[in-house]
Amino acid sequence: MSNFATLADRNRSFAERAGHRALTSVMPKVPVFVVTCLDPRTDPASFLGVAPGDAPVIRNAGGRVTDEVINDVAFIAYMAEALGAGGSDGPTLEVAIVHHTKCGTGFLADPGFRATFAARSGLDDRALEAEAVIDPEATVRTDVDRLVTSPKLTSSVVVSGHVYDLDTGLVTTVIRGATPLASLR
Ligand SMILES: [Zn+2]
Repeated sequence: MSNFATLADRNRSFAERAGHRALTSVMPKVPVFVVTCLDPRTDPASFLGVAPGDAPVIRNAGGRVTDEVINDVAFIAYMAEALGAGGSDGPTLEVAIVHHTKCGTGFLADPGFRATFAARSGLDDRALEAEAVIDPEATVRTDVDRLVTSPKLTSSVVVSGHVYDLDTGLVTTVIRGATPLASLR
């Protein structure tokens, strides 16, 4: 039996409850686009209390701002703008990048571990090294910077950076709110 069978069982219980039918709007109830790690310990549903219908979430290794993440943020920002989200003076889209302590991407800082994976995957060794989240405060600053300097985003987006500490359970804000440098509006 596959491990997914456990989740499929839970899905049947979920479908029997009526809650999901109330989720009729694609517009988030708490309009914050969360980018965080795929680590099973860092589910925004638990540590940020994100409930279904609340917020768009992207999770990848480390919660890093990749080209794909930038493309998705640009798309959601455009959609929010087109659907008239945000006030006349407020941001159309708020993005929160959350890195965390004890991140599994830290293994990529080990040259031997990284070299074997680089050879197997064909991925670039230096790019993999840069993916490692050893100091989440530093990497979250790098990624906020990466997002706000992208020419794909308009000044209607506001980006903040945070660190989730697995030991205390607390999220600390590192960068409160930065605006993209590009102005495509
Ligand atoms: Zn992680």
